[in-house]
Amino acid sequence: MTTTWEHEFNTPVFKGKVSFPTGVFVDGKFSAGSTGKTIDVINPTNGKVITKIAEATVDDVDRAVKSARKAFDTVWGLNYPGSERGKLLMKLADLLEENQDEFAAIEALDNGKTFSWAKAADLGMSIGTFRYFGGWAGKSHGKVIETTEDKLAYTRHEPIGVCGQIIPWNFPLMMMAWKLGPALATGNTVVIKPSEFTPLTALRMASLIKQAGFPDGVVNVVVGYGHTVGAAIAEHMEIEKVAFTGSTLVGRKVMEAAAKTNLKKVTLELGGKSPNIIFNDADLDKAVNWSAHGIFWNHGQACCAGSRIFVQSGIYDEFLKRFTAKADSLRLGDPFATDSYQGPQVSQIQYDRIMSYINSGKEEGATVHLGGERHGEEGYWIKPTIFTDTKPNMRIVQEEIFGPVGVVIKFENEADVIKQANDTVYGLAAAVFSQDINRAIETAHKLHAGTAWINCVNQLHPEVPFGGYKQSGIGRELGEYALDSYTNIKAVHVNLGHTI
Ligand code: NAD
Repeated sequence: MTTTWEHEFNTPVFKGKVSFPTGVFVDGKFSAGSTGKTIDVINPTNGKVITKIAEATVDDVDRAVKSARKAFDTVWGLNYPGSERGKLLMKLADLLEENQDEFAAIEALDNGKTFSWAKAADLGMSIGTFRYFGGWAGKSHGKVIETTEDKLAYTRHEPIGVCGQIIPWNFPLMMMAWKLGPALATGNTVVIKPSEFTPLTALRMASLIKQAGFPDGVVNVVVGYGHTVGAAIAEHMEIEKVAFTGSTLVGRKVMEAAAKTNLKKVTLELGGKSPNIIFNDADLDKAVNWSAHGIFWNHGQACCAGSRIFVQSGIYDEFLKRFTAKADSLRLGDPFATDSYQGPQVSQIQYDRIMSYINSGKEEGATVHLGGERHGEEGYWIKPTIFTDTKPNMRIVQEEIFGPVGVVIKFENEADVIKQANDTVYGLAAAVFSQDINRAIETAHKLHAGTAWINCVNQLHPEVPFGGYKQSGIGRELGEYALDSYTNIKAVHVNLGHTI
């Protein structure tokens, strides 16, 4: 028997009952997983169980792939006109918009992010992403290429087939939208694995996908563990492309599995340790506010978090004073309270991981300038934390902490900061603050990162590509660029003459 979640929200920002199936969603139907086992979904504010959902298994992945293949061959792929696919994506965006408060409430409860941020950022981006890619459906076509007088060649942008998609817990719904949007717009079918830590909005989306009218089997949602369901997706012989968002460690395993099996196409969106550079001539108040948002937004659980804050020596002391005051003023509290900025970390595992980084920073001789400790008695709360007096080789400077922990580092000149900023295995994002636009642009161009923000941070738009240099990933999500990862280009040569 499939599981169902029923819950009555009675919060200042959302009141209402939610009720939806939380089974394995294959071929347009919810069911129990093949073993009948369940996964506990935990509320990170207090560590208590919210509900249990069906645990998908390797067999369920296989069932999902068969369903996705059948849908691709019979009702989707080249059988379903692009403009009609676009209509379905637009419909999905409309349904999501109609239900956005409910989705934001579920995300806040399951992930711990605040309702207001979930609504503004996660829902806003997800709705926008479905609309953006809905607009692309049917508009990504090939070219005619002139070859010789009596021959011509043209290209076709064909869907790849069944795509496996594996996503993390930090932006559960938004990552689902980033993955489904381009895959469906280009005519692929999907087997998607949400994170076992935050499955609820993805399962609610499964109902919405059905309601929007997508044919059965086009999208299959399998929530299970990474080493079982995730690995089965990466290894599956009939999945022809895998798109992964998560840690660099697991990204490597996904790529290895793809290489060892059917050499499926791989795109990876991985970790980061993004530099945030503030020059002497920056607008200080704005730089302080953006920097706080850069590292503390989403409780530091953002792949593009500006976790290394480089401040030029002329303003270092004043910046640190104001930045500390700003960080100290961020209110940790109930995700449903309108004045909360920061909620809990997502899980006990993440809490322990972040605390162990904080301890390593202390042991290696850095100074805890602010925070560095838990907040409250229950749940997974960590105070905004600032380290100073760091050395370039410390773990807190080199490794992704994925929590509300920033290091503030003094620099002298441009050459010095570019060298330090690029001294990382990651290359996801970077930010530069200066009122000299030439300096800001020159610096942005010298940074090894897939995204460079000037006088701002964390700007994400469906139209603009996002992805990493170096070990932060392979390929791009969002924008026109994302379509390339979901299409096979076929070159067709036509002989118009009669000669051999
Ligand atoms: P994770 O790598 O632990 O897990 C990501 C997903 O992979 C989950 O669904 C998990 O169940 C699955 N998984 C785990 N082991 C697997 C295996 N052996 N084979 C296949 N799948 C497996 O990452 P996380 O803790 O969920 O998320 C945090 C990480 O994600 C951070 O490193 C962060 O930087 C990264 N991230 C990157 C982006 C980006 O766009 N670059 C966006 C969000 C998060």
